Amino acid sequence: MGDELTLGQKLDTNGKWIAERLVDRGIVPVEHVTVPDDMDATVAALRRLASGVDLIVSSGGLGPTADDLTRHAVAMAGDDTLIEDAGARDQIERYFQERGREMPTLNLVQALRPSRARSLRNDHGTAPGICAKIGGCDVYCLPGPPREMTPMFLTYVAPSLRTDSARSIAIRTLHCFGIGESDIAARLGGMMDRARSPLVGTTASGGVVSVRIRYEGNFPESDAQQLVDESARRASQACSPFVFGSGEQSLPSVVLDSLRRHGQTLAVAESCTGGMLGEMITGVPGSSDSFIGGWITYSNEMKMRELGVIPVLISTHGAVSRDVATSMAAGALFESGADHALAITGIAGPGGGTEQKPVGTVWVALVSKPPSTSRTERAQAAQTLMVDARQFRMGNDRQSIREWSSRAALMMLWMRLAGVAVTPLLRQMPD
Ligand code: AMP
Ligand code: MG
Repeated sequence: MGDELTLGQKLDTNGKWIAERLVDRGIVPVEHVTVPDDMDATVAALRRLASGVDLIVSSGGLGPTADDLTRHAVAMAGDDTLIEDAGARDQIERYFQERGREMPTLNLVQALRPSRARSLRNDHGTAPGICAKIGGCDVYCLPGPPREMTPMFLTYVAPSLRTDSARSIAIRTLHCFGIGESDIAARLGGMMDRARSPLVGTTASGGVVSVRIRYEGNFPESDAQQLVDESARRASQACSPFVFGSGEQSLPSVVLDSLRRHGQTLAVAESCTGGMLGEMITGVPGSSDSFIGGWITYSNEMKMRELGVIPVLISTHGAVSRDVATSMAAGALFESGADHALAITGIAGPGGGTEQKPVGTVWVALVSKPPSTSRTERAQAAQTLMVDARQFRMGNDRQSIREWSSRAALMMLWMRLAGVAVTPLLRQMPD
């Protein structure tokens, strides 16, 4: 619900999240509807949907202002009237008390619910949810902010779901990086046949190609799981060594898990990615176990001053070169004391490209301390550092170049930690 969604100012990420949770639980959504903050449109949408489906989950429109119409619309669509819910009022008053604030009278409207409906407690905000019926259809209205909506879905909606017990659904997803979607498809071959069960499909996003294996049918749950596991094993073999994880795992999360298992640390030195690599890493809870920190050295001057890159390297080879990337990583390693350092330097465009180094040319370097030597030995023996630098060609979209470069760096480290030869990592990223 909301003008910000129909006007395109905001993306309906709640719809995506809710649909995925429903599918996980064996319920296949048949329609997503986005309505503006308009009474007639909302009532009409609720009535139309309720006449055709068993369950509606809505989000948004439960705020205290005049454009928050969900509770009024649900009451009207269900031929009901609004009453104040004593428990909900209590909770809203307490919410403000605990924060030492006076409750604005405007917020009282949030305690209203249709007389035959149930109010759903919200522990993360002032808008209680609503569980109502419109005809024979169950309707759950949840608040719009994702951090309020998601726990309420898990608390109230998920446990009440009824599924057809004769049908089972099993899903596994594998994630690959460093290989294009069509190359993955070629490797999977007949597994991607649309008539096959389990069904195997691929999606690509930000350079990560995900292989989704889905069974839906009449086999019992355990058989369905086994079938999907077997297909996942075959798919994983076919896509090796580009498969870095599965399910909810991300490239930064598997890299951090691996660093933690090895008891090792990481530092970064970024130029064209401007901190994106650090942002991806620190987006994972618990990253401080292994991530020490890093540098954003955008100018040549800063690369030299902060990371000790020698001026002659830049004048001879240019800032986007094997030597400078390696020197940045080595500098980050020594300055931070980390076990591994990743450095990225490239031309993200749209300007700055040349014939030899077109936009999308990126050098990524990984420098690691040799395993099992003492600190003093390591300091003396710089030549024994493990160095890997490679050049990528990443298309010409600035944002994609920056994202892929950050992920390419993580993939290089993941491969080193997993003991996989990095050589097969593709230099050519898809456009
Ligand atoms: P509301 O409950 O309508 O006041 O919504 C509060 C806030 O939740 C909005 O300003 C949005 O930032 C967010 N929000 C609402 N609906 C969605 C949605 N479908 N997906 C993501 N965020 C949403
Ligand atoms: Mg709204």
